[in-house]
Amino acid sequence: MRCAACRLRTARGFGWFDPRVRTSLPLPACSMRCMSALCRRWGVVDPDEHEIAAIAAASPMAGEYLESIGKTDLAVLTEAEWLTLLEVIITAYQDELARLLDQGRHPAPPLAAGGRP
Ligand SMILES: [Zn+2]
Repeated sequence: MRCAACRLRTARGFGWFDPRVRTSLPLPACSMRCMSALCRRWGVVDPDEHEIAAIAAASPMAGEYLESIGKTDLAVLTEAEWLTLLEVIITAYQDELARLLDQGRHPAPPLAAGGRP
């Protein structure tokens, strides 16, 4: 089941329902962060500082893979090369995200609408 806030991750045991509506069904969420976003009706959750850092960490890994196969034009990649490139990026992203979270420092909560914390 997909998270109702970020609409990207799998919902994992979190859920929020609107207490003002007697028969509302709980909206599934992947994290406390997304559940908070649902509660405040923010809708879209922007990437946090760890996710942004993980994207940056995945970039050179993608470049290394493309260099290793001698191709820089994505249009000429075979399907297998394209899928491997995606795997390299996703794995590097997840590894960096896990490394940052394992350091014990959690990202700041997202800002409320209007930039207020
Ligand atoms: Zn989510």
